[in-house]
Amino acid sequence: MSKMFADCPICNAHQSMEVTTKTEIIPYFGEIMESTLLCSECGYKHADTICIDQKEPVKYTLLVGKDNLNARVVKSQSTTITIPEIGLKVEPGPQSQGYVSNVEGVLKRFEKAVKTALSWAEEDHVKQNAVQILEDIERVKNGQKKVTLVLEDPFGHSIVMDDAAVRSELTVEEIKNLKTGFATFENEELEINEDDESKPS
Ligand SMILES: [Zn+2]
Repeated sequence: MSKMFADCPICNAHQSMEVTTKTEIIPYFGEIMESTLLCSECGYKHADTICIDQKEPVKYTLLVGKDNLNARVVKSQSTTITIPEIGLKVEPGPQSQGYVSNVEGVLKRFEKAVKTALSWAEEDHVKQNAVQILEDIERVKNGQKKVTLVLEDPFGHSIVMDDAAVRSELTVEEIKNLKTGFATFENEELEINEDDESKPS
């Protein structure tokens, strides 16, 4: 814990503001810093808590089959999720939310987003593409198809909990290619909205 004094930004009194900061380790979350401001002249008080934990950019790759649909997935706000074999990619947008789910839950979110995109699609080849993706997801769920689930998080808060999950560091090049924007399919024929799949189930 540390204390220092500063001029009060509210009443402008000289060195009347006591600033107390304290850091604390919260299990499974990281290091946080609590700061409290208190002015002895005007009584202004403010408390704030910020996460100061610095984590390495991380990438998880998991070969998904019927046996690991239950593997736990922690997806942070900043994570890009890709299933290259099916041509699915969801990138973080301004409305992105983090969630805790499992592999099956991630597939369901993809499914829901593709169905929404399908309902908006007008061109036949776009519809066919969406139908194909839905069939592929179905085959993954019932064990007929294996695909790779890739999570890339430049802030390192995401986790895929499975013995078969491969954790690696993101390269500088990979981090550069990660976007924050709207979710799109890799072929960019169908646009899916991150909002449709980011709500907690
Ligand atoms: Zn004051």
